[in-house]
Amino acid sequence: MATVPITLSKHVLLLLYCRVDVKGLFELGKRYPWPRPQRCPRCEGMRLWGHGYAARYFEGFMEPLWVKRYRCPECQAVHTYRPDQYFERYRYSVVDVVMSLLNKIIHGRWLRCVNRQSQLPWYRSAWAWCSRGQAIARLTVEHLWQYVSEKIPGSNQYEQLRL
Ligand SMILES: [Zn+2]
Repeated sequence: MATVPITLSKHVLLLLYCRVDVKGLFELGKRYPWPRPQRCPRCEGMRLWGHGYAARYFEGFMEPLWVKRYRCPECQAVHTYRPDQYFERYRYSVVDVVMSLLNKIIHGRWLRCVNRQSQLPWYRSAWAWCSRGQAIARLTVEHLWQYVSEKIPGSNQYEQLRL
């Protein structure tokens, strides 16, 4: 029997990561050729129906970009594509976030090219994640690799959105 996650709404929202050319996505908008998932990543159902688009903001683009959504009629899950260069809920790319955290860990400074208000929550989020099992005083490079390796999604993986 499939495990059904606890949800606050009727439909389960899931992220579907894939390699995306964000510049092409900006230029093509809803005409961007998203791959159709072979199966529902949640229940393995073979039928997935197009379920419109969602607007998402990414750093470097003034306007939101359209990301494709699919719905599984078997388990009612709604899958929303997300470029795998971006952590969930982050406008900045993984590279920007990692460079910022590395700079803070090694040099004790924030990156000058990214505003500080953005970088502080990245550090706090990574610190909180690394302190789940046991509180740590401060992040180290080893902590950062653990954090990133868990946060960087592989293709066809998904995780449940926190509603
Ligand atoms: Zn399904």
